[in-house]
Amino acid sequence: MAEAAPPSNEKKPKSAPQRAMDKLGLVRDIDLALHLPLRYEDETTLVSIASLRDGDTAQVEGVVVRSEVQFRPRRQLVVRLRDDAGDELVLRFLNFYPSHQKTLAEGARVRVRGEARGGFFGLEMVHPSFKAVGEGAPLARALTPIYPTSAQLPQAYLRKAVASGLMRADLSEQLPPGTVPPGLPPLREALAYLHHPAPDVSVAALEDRSHPAWQRLKFDELLAQQLSQLKAKQERELQRAPAFAVRPGGLQEKLLAALPFSLTEAQRRVVEEIARDLGRETPMHRLLQGDVGSGKTVVAALAAAIAIEQGWQCALMAPTEILAEQHLRKLVGWLEPLGIRVARLTGSRKGKARREMLAQVASGEAALVVGTHAVIQDQVEFAKLGLAIIDEQHRFGVQQRPALRSKLQDGPLEPHTLMMSATPIPRTLAMTLFADLDISTIDELPPGRTPVVTKLFADDKREAVVARIRDEVAAGRQVYWVCPLIEESESLDLQNATATHQQLCEALPGQMVGLLHGRMPAAEKAAVMSLFSGGQMGVLVSTTVIEVGVDVPNASLMVIEHAERFGLSQLHQLRGRVGRGAVASVCVLIYTTPLSDTAKSRLKAMIETNDGFEIARRDLEIRGPGEFFGARQSGAPLLRFADLAEDEPLVRLARSAALKLLAQHPQAAERHVARWLGSKTDYLKA
Ligand code: ADP
Ligand code: MG
Repeated sequence: MAEAAPPSNEKKPKSAPQRAMDKLGLVRDIDLALHLPLRYEDETTLVSIASLRDGDTAQVEGVVVRSEVQFRPRRQLVVRLRDDAGDELVLRFLNFYPSHQKTLAEGARVRVRGEARGGFFGLEMVHPSFKAVGEGAPLARALTPIYPTSAQLPQAYLRKAVASGLMRADLSEQLPPGTVPPGLPPLREALAYLHHPAPDVSVAALEDRSHPAWQRLKFDELLAQQLSQLKAKQERELQRAPAFAVRPGGLQEKLLAALPFSLTEAQRRVVEEIARDLGRETPMHRLLQGDVGSGKTVVAALAAAIAIEQGWQCALMAPTEILAEQHLRKLVGWLEPLGIRVARLTGSRKGKARREMLAQVASGEAALVVGTHAVIQDQVEFAKLGLAIIDEQHRFGVQQRPALRSKLQDGPLEPHTLMMSATPIPRTLAMTLFADLDISTIDELPPGRTPVVTKLFADDKREAVVARIRDEVAAGRQVYWVCPLIEESESLDLQNATATHQQLCEALPGQMVGLLHGRMPAAEKAAVMSLFSGGQMGVLVSTTVIEVGVDVPNASLMVIEHAERFGLSQLHQLRGRVGRGAVASVCVLIYTTPLSDTAKSRLKAMIETNDGFEIARRDLEIRGPGEFFGARQSGAPLLRFADLAEDEPLVRLARSAALKLLAQHPQAAERHVARWLGSKTDYLKA
């Protein structure tokens, strides 16, 4: 037997560009074929340097007459190019390699393409693309596709890979006749058009995504997504969960009777919807959405009561300790008088106290477990988990959710899940991304609330804001002052908040002004929060935007500094901290100029509406669905081509086609999903 024979499955190590392609999910030929250009460059024409105008993007050709590295104001390569008419253009490179210098050496003939800008010494191009050419080299006959790529993956390499992927991939029509909406081209044709545009097609026609070729790709993408969601739903329907019936005179009724208020119509309706789900043997998978202050916590408690009465446990998870604390206080107040033991599990709970809690959870003695994500850590074992409630579910990362589900899965029965969100999901988004989720909506606020009035103040009007604060606290009410989180610099952030805190202390002698920030130990945070919720503290300065669920009905003024730095839904959430009692409340947005266009539209939306659904719609418009949904952090775009704000009609078509396909042609459905999603299906199911 030969020694040291290499194992037969040993592969050559992958090159850097290949690894970069893997990272982008470009593994199969079909992945490459479906990797569409971001835009196109027109390399079909050359213009003379003399005809270039400031702001033109164009291609010119010439001979390098000077190439030198300059050091002022910083190291850069400066190249002077002269075209055949004798006119000159400066090319400037702030990042460059020896290979660039070689191609751009004096005497070389090059073609460069970039945007001409009026520089100090006449027109110049900064970081143009360039390539060496022989005299009279032919021009491109068609537009050049520019693909989305990463730093390790050169455009030219990717372009070749896409071209060969496109040739090899199986692009035959897999969908039964009648599936694709009329007027849209076959996939093969659509892809050919978009990757290799004909010489006479204009850039505008290609980049306008309403073209039928684009529509076909968007439709196929949406169809794949709908199919995988509907399949996930079907699979879920095969799972089993404990069925809980509501007993007349039982725990839920007792809790209702003990509440200091009666439910709103909307709360009653969603409690019904949830109770119906809990009564079935298939696991509930429901999202409860309702604007800030609409009263979701009590709905959660009523759901918990149903499960607990039947001898099962319920876990309630909040994204932060302060939120968990708040829930705890509420739930303990409501449920302990009814004889229900509530356990607390957060990251800061350590040692003996934690061991005791864990033991109570494991024995089933604690019927309700409230905490942060610490609830899903390895050591936590439930005796009999029947219902998991996740508050502010969008704040748990996309990747965290599957982890959570698998943790909760125990034995042959799955727990029911109820997710809660104060960021309502616009209809199209819900239909697309959450096709396998049932949605309950609380669309009214408890009675007696006065709508919050929102006002804008420029930064130089701070004095007026401070005077307002003085009036509020003098009238016995309370004030929040929120400073923004500056991501790049947490310490700057803290400095800023500390300075504001100092100023307010001086401006409001005799008042207790507190400070809350992310670096404080949990116990200290809790102490500050309890002084504020207890009413002893008149003003709370906070750096953190994380603690959005706090509930202090006596607070009537919310000041948000550098409001231009916050996202729209964040602003709305923060505003929701006031207006929780009967007193008229005000939200003051302090902004600093200059304002970007998106900042302006966010502030405008805040002034114009108090309605969370309208806010969500505008947010989607301003930010786009990827960011809206928090998919950004996960690195995997949910939809590459379709635009949910624009493509609602296509979403509808894809949805009905998906239902039909699953029912009549399940194999075609499977092939379509495999073509589009390949290995990504698991991710989308989460
Ligand atoms: P959110 O939906 O933002 O989580 P909460 O559950 O914190 O809202 O409720 C906001 C406040 O309204 C709490 O103080 C809660 O006790 C109170 N609340 C809830 N439902 C009602 C109701 N039907 N009538 C009066 N107050 C209510
Ligand atoms: Mg809440």
